[in-house]
Amino acid sequence: MLDWSDTKPATPANPAILTNAPASDATGLGDIDRKGGRVSVDEKRMINCRADVNQLLPLKYKWAWEKYLSGCNNHWMPTEVSMQADIALWKSKDGLTEDERRMLKRNLGFFAASESLVANNIVLAIYRHLTNPECRQYLLRQAFEEAIHTHTFQYIVESLGLDEGELFNMYREVPSITDKAAWALKHTQSIEDPEFRTGTPENDQALLRDLITFYVIFEGMWFYTGFAQILSLGRRNKMVGIAEQYQYILRDESIHLNFGIDVINQIKIENPHLWTKAFQDEVRGMIRDAAELEAAYGRDTMPRGFLGLNAALCEQYMHFIANRRCGQLGLTPVFAETENPFPWMSEAMDLKKEKNFFETRVIEYQNGGALSWE
Ligand code: MN
Ligand code: FE
Repeated sequence: MLDWSDTKPATPANPAILTNAPASDATGLGDIDRKGGRVSVDEKRMINCRADVNQLLPLKYKWAWEKYLSGCNNHWMPTEVSMQADIALWKSKDGLTEDERRMLKRNLGFFAASESLVANNIVLAIYRHLTNPECRQYLLRQAFEEAIHTHTFQYIVESLGLDEGELFNMYREVPSITDKAAWALKHTQSIEDPEFRTGTPENDQALLRDLITFYVIFEGMWFYTGFAQILSLGRRNKMVGIAEQYQYILRDESIHLNFGIDVINQIKIENPHLWTKAFQDEVRGMIRDAAELEAAYGRDTMPRGFLGLNAALCEQYMHFIANRRCGQLGLTPVFAETENPFPWMSEAMDLKKEKNFFETRVIEYQNGGALSWE
């Protein structure tokens, strides 16, 4: 059963085992310690762990395992969604206004490259520094989901006959998109360096900065206005195939976001010295900057706006979301209290089981996937 609510507080670790000793084998690929004892739950730690990272059991962080199971239960493929109505609308002369086409193309361009940036950050930067097998199990699942999301944009480009070079280069060629990507990349570049090691307060904070950038800001803020743009079209019966795919992506992303929040909060519990007042102020500043970048993207993608959606409403939504993310991280809000201008976004997240797509697909999957040994 999916839980869309905010992240639950994690259990504090035993302070007796919180040492700052360097990890003996953070990757899990070093020489095998034939004399080492079995790992106990108390020895497991999010970062800088000295216990063997190849032993999934006993589980310590049940929230990570539960998110892995939820991700698996939500499996979907973009090609299972019909694009016929979208193709007809996209090709018709006045099915979409010029403003709607501009927003749609830039939105697709933003997501197409962003899914790759998020995937590369997980695999090339975060994975080796999170020294916990149940979190790594989830990261492996998440990495595959990001591949499915990238596949979605390949499938949309192919279905609508869009210019693939234009779409996949927007993150380099459209300044409002480039500015967001460049801002995020600063924070992954410092930790994807092969020489980078956690274990000092400065470096552990660099890892936290990357986690906040990608999980809380990229997936947890910027993606949400992107979803609102497309789902708003879908609510008016426009581009319903893409809107359905975005609902599935949104469902995946809400678990990515909540996993990230749990990871960050658990690292805070185990390493309270990292969460200084100065660092908290810095994080609040990052969230404020990110909302600014998103407001600029909103003005660029919707210079005039259309029914139910415009740049000002998206900016208000970003302020609402930013404050919510602050709350999830235990920070004071960065913006004045504001109402959610898109209350329908919570309904959009509430993908119920009665949706035929999942009912039929799950059954087919189990039958079609059965092996025959004859
Ligand atoms: Mn994704
Ligand atoms: Fe994601």
